[in-house]
Amino acid sequence: MKKPLIVANWKCNPATLKEARRLFSAVKRTKAVVCPPFVYLSALKANGAQDVFWEKGGAYTGEISPLMLKDAGVKYVIVGHSERRKYQKETDEIISKKVKTALDAGLRVILCVDKISQIEKDLKLIKNWKLKTENLAIAYEPLFAIGTGKPCSIKKAKQMRKAIQKKIKKSVPVLYGGSVNSQNARGYIREAGFNGLLVGGASLKAKEFIDIIKAACYPK
Ligand code: PEP
Repeated sequence: MKKPLIVANWKCNPATLKEARRLFSAVKRTKAVVCPPFVYLSALKANGAQDVFWEKGGAYTGEISPLMLKDAGVKYVIVGHSERRKYQKETDEIISKKVKTALDAGLRVILCVDKISQIEKDLKLIKNWKLKTENLAIAYEPLFAIGTGKPCSIKKAKQMRKAIQKKIKKSVPVLYGGSVNSQNARGYIREAGFNGLLVGGASLKAKEFIDIIKAACYPK
């Protein structure tokens, strides 16, 4: 079995670079993808980002392009997170443009969905997306589980993982996200068959995050 892909989404935390450095240095020896806020990316040399703009550059005040992320050493980018769909009103149309530009720039995209129907809409600009999906991972993130402490049952998550895998090429990793902790991490990998985890709140506690990695990646 390939080592699961474990992704930390720090969201809008922590408040200072000093705290970010402390957290990052505790977890950087793990093989995890760490997605801090943009302003910390270069200082930390982090390998993941939480979002990206849909153009390579130009008159778009406040935006961060995929080329800038590449230049900062970023390899992975989260696209279509439910918090961006909700608070920034990102539509599937917008997300599909972000996926395309990010993939074209050579970034690895972690596309977040909570419904199967979003996959087709968010990948519509990718030619032959059913066949050619290098550099793509899908994260199944049920809305009720994100940041609520109410994780999806292993049974339901497994059904969704299978349904997603029917839609896309087998080689595309499918991740689970939503109230993952060190107690439930193993089940999503070993029992539900996910290829990785997207971790929000628990990734802000270094020990808990390292315990998640151990539980998910190393056999007992
Ligand atoms: C997330 O933000 O993608 C997430 C899964 O958050 P949490 O782990 O806090 O539920």
